Amino acid sequence: MISDMMKLVDRFVDIFKKPLYGKTFFCPVCHLELSFHDTDENDNLVCPLCGVVIELHETYGHPIPIVNDVEINRVQPKMRMHPLATHLPIGLFPFALLGGFLLLFISAYCKARGLIVSDYEFWSNASIILDKATSLFLFVAVASSSLTFFTGFMDWKKRYGGRPYRIITLKIILSGIFLALGVLLVLLHISIFTAGIAALSNIFSIFGAILYLFLLAAAMFILATLGHVGGYLVHGK
Ligand SMILES: [Zn+2]
Repeated sequence: MISDMMKLVDRFVDIFKKPLYGKTFFCPVCHLELSFHDTDENDNLVCPLCGVVIELHETYGHPIPIVNDVEINRVQPKMRMHPLATHLPIGLFPFALLGGFLLLFISAYCKARGLIVSDYEFWSNASIILDKATSLFLFVAVASSSLTFFTGFMDWKKRYGGRPYRIITLKIILSGIFLALGVLLVLLHISIFTAGIAALSNIFSIFGAILYLFLLAAAMFILATLGHVGGYLVHGK
């Protein structure tokens, strides 16, 4: 199941990677996939994972990476804020996803059965609590993802010397998409639910609910992809 998910994530990453990376090669030491665009004007680059200095040549269309040196003075941050900060959105967003799905399920069930939730004290209290918890998880996950973005950006500037790696560009693009989806989701959540129940009374309300569900799933997928790409940059394959 997890390996199937990873294959799906890999395929999704490939959609972005192909136009962004162009021609690629593998670091001869740690086997991290790098782009030809990552080299400087002298065809050199420092591997962001293992720190070797690679001189890249091409013979008959084949990349020939030659290891010349090792970057031994790489900045090692005392507090690894970025890996810590990633756990907030990744840890909280699945709960927001679950809460959003449950709230819409309750709303759709009540609508289909013609039930009015406020007539049932237990369910009306439960839906209000679930709504508050879901919006809190959603808000904190999205807000903390901007902290994750900031700490990641600082890591890139310090640890990786701000060098233009395509894997970092990919992470920045995916983070931007997640942040945009997250803000949209917070706004949609506020406009769809009243005391934890979505009205689903007209076409706009139904469309909003479907869009909300779709964006929740899409944002979760982007977040998983970001974690996957980040893990690849730090730990390799
Ligand atoms: Zn390497």
